[in-house]
Amino acid sequence: MTETRNTNRPGRIHEITAVSNPRVKSVRSLFQKKHRDQSETFLVEGLKLVMDAIAHDWHVETLIYSKGGEVRHPVEELAAKIRVLGGDILEVNNKVLSSITRKDNPQSVLGVVRQKWSKPPAAVKDPKTVWIGLDRIRDPGNLGTIIRTADSAGADGIILIGDTTDPFSVEATRATMGSIFNVPLVRMTNEAFLGWRKTWQGLVVGTHLKGAVDFRAIDYAAQPVFLLMGNEQQGMPDDLSAACDKLALIPMHGAADSLNLAIATGVFLFHMGKRLPNVGTDQARGPQT
Ligand code: SAM
Repeated sequence: MTETRNTNRPGRIHEITAVSNPRVKSVRSLFQKKHRDQSETFLVEGLKLVMDAIAHDWHVETLIYSKGGEVRHPVEELAAKIRVLGGDILEVNNKVLSSITRKDNPQSVLGVVRQKWSKPPAAVKDPKTVWIGLDRIRDPGNLGTIIRTADSAGADGIILIGDTTDPFSVEATRATMGSIFNVPLVRMTNEAFLGWRKTWQGLVVGTHLKGAVDFRAIDYAAQPVFLLMGNEQQGMPDDLSAACDKLALIPMHGAADSLNLAIATGVFLFHMGKRLPNVGTDQARGPQT
């Protein structure tokens, strides 16, 4: 991942009351992919997500918050931290916040965060490694849920293959519940992926409705695994299927012909259980009794 930028100058505080202010317009424009791509930033909603960004060393360029919000004390602490790291603070009213989010009761804290893209993994040998490939994923909710699930299962990263939905859209980041900051993301064309795949030294498991192998019959433990998931509407194309060592199927009951993509990804990841801590050890997360 790229380094967090610390400009060594404290950020500035601006008090803004007009919805037509150019900085407000620029924040609002981040709802559109074109502006996220141009600025290489994205918008996150809510105090928790902005705090998560800082905790994982992502650079928050701008914090926007309403002075009349309910979370005044923690947000002022957060604002002080972001200023030290060189981020600007916009103190706004509810009218301005609503004009950005187009909601009547907007979150009282928003953050503009610099995007990070990772490089594809090289020479991976650790058998606990799991990377996920998503072929032309279209639905931002599915992508956010997969990022959250990959993070929870301890997966090492995700490669977005071909023309996919933007992981930095507001819908996708919201669905990650903070995991966007903890899962390396790589993007590649289909051709680049097929070239990179030849360098992968572990098992490549494609998940496919015509899969010849029951997903429970595969030995995932012995080597690194690359888990390749097909597109929501069309499934996996022939060139990607041909690049897999095995095509695996989750056998199903019922009337539906397939599982939801995010659910199928979760079933595979937790079945493999590569990096899951054992309950009862110090590493296990969850409520302590
Ligand atoms: N109509 C598509 C098709 O024919 O493949 C359905 C795609 S499904 C909604 C999206 C992806 O989830 C699939 O390409 C596959 O990767 C995965 N998937 C869903 N159900 C699965 C199952 N029962 N076994 C294996 N993979 C499954």
